[in-house]
Amino acid sequence: MFRAIVIDKDANGYHAGLRALEPVRLPDGDVTVRVEYSSLNYKDALAITGRAPVVRNFPMVPGIDLAGVVTESDHPDYRPGDRVVLNGYGIGESHWGGLSQLARVRGDWLVPLPRAFSTRQAMAIGTAGYTAMLCVLALERQGLTPGSGDVVVTGASGGVGGVAVALLTRLGYRVVAVTGRPEEDAYLRGLGARDILDRASLSHPCRPLEKARWAGAVDVAGGQVLASICAGMQYRGVVTACGLAGGMAFPTTVAPFILRGVTLVGIDSVMCPRPDRIAAWRRLAQDLDPAELETMTQDIALSDAIPAATDLLEGRIRGRVVVAL
Ligand code: NDP
Repeated sequence: MFRAIVIDKDANGYHAGLRALEPVRLPDGDVTVRVEYSSLNYKDALAITGRAPVVRNFPMVPGIDLAGVVTESDHPDYRPGDRVVLNGYGIGESHWGGLSQLARVRGDWLVPLPRAFSTRQAMAIGTAGYTAMLCVLALERQGLTPGSGDVVVTGASGGVGGVAVALLTRLGYRVVAVTGRPEEDAYLRGLGARDILDRASLSHPCRPLEKARWAGAVDVAGGQVLASICAGMQYRGVVTACGLAGGMAFPTTVAPFILRGVTLVGIDSVMCPRPDRIAAWRRLAQDLDPAELETMTQDIALSDAIPAATDLLEGRIRGRVVVAL
C-alpha cells in the first residue's frame, strides 16, 4: 500500500483526504517513481481546496511536482535507482500527481535530477522555482542585462517571486520586490531586494503610460498589477507574465507596446518543451544559492498538505513548502 492525497467529487461534494491505496490503482505510464518529496504550489492549493477548476478528472491525486527515485522502468532513458524530477505536464490535474508515495508517469515527462540537488532541494525549487528560472531566461533572451536598469518582481513573498528575487540578485540585477506583506521587508531584503514596493500602489487603475521605472519585470499577479507594471516600463522594457494571483483580467492599453516598444513575454511551465526544462534546471544548479533557497523553504508532512493549501491561498505562507513523502 502507499499513501496519497486523493481528491474526489461525488454526492458528498468536492473533498480531499489522505488515503492508503494499492499500487494496482496507479495510472498508466512507463516509469514508476518512489516519490521522496513533493511541494505545494499555488495550483496545488487551488486543486486541493477546489477554489478553481484545476482537476480535470476524478478521483485525482494532486501535486504538480515530484522528485524521487525510479523503481521500475520500461523507458529507454531510465533505470531503477535513477533520481528524477517532474514538473507539470498535467500531473495533479489530469494524471495522478506527486502528493503520493508512489507515482506512475510517462518517462518523457521526467528530467534527470541535476547532481547539484538533493530530491528535497529539487522540491524546494519545484514548479515555482523552475518557472522563476524560465522568466529569467526569457528576460535574458530579450537582451536584458544588469546594466539595463531595475527589475520588478511581484508576489515576492510567494514561491515564484522569492526565487526570482534571489536569482536576479545573484545575477547582478537591482531588484524591486512588490509585496502585499510589509512585515516581510527584512526577509525580502535578505533575498537581495534593494527596494520594497507596496502592492497597493500598483492595484489601482493607472494612466496608459506612467513614469518609466523598470527595465524588466517578473509578474505572478496579472490583473491591475500587471497593467500598472506595463505602464511603468522603460523604453524597450521586458515583462514576463506567468501568474494570476491577482486575477485573470488584463486592463491595459496598447500604449506601452506601441509607444515604448515594451515586450510582454508569456511564460508556461506545464507544457514547456524538454530542452528548455533541462536548460532551466541546469541554470538553477548554477545560479541559485542553496543557502538562500533554505531561507525561503519550510517542510511539512503529507498529512499537513490539506490545511496548508488554505493557508497558502490566504497569504499565510511565505516562500516555498516542501512535502515529505
Ligand atoms: P504563492 O502563493 O507562493 O505566491 C503568490 C504570491 O502572490 C503571494 O505570496 C502574494 O505575494 C501575491 N499575491 C497574493 N494575492 C495577490 C493579489 N490579489 N494581487 C497581487 N499579488 C497577490 O504562489 P506561486 O508562487 O506558486 O505562484 C504564483 C502565481 O504564478 C500563481 O498565479 C500561479 O498559478 C502562477 N504560476 C504559473 C506558472 C506557469 O507555468 N505559468 C507556474 C507556477 C506558478 P505578496 O504577499 O508578497 O504580495
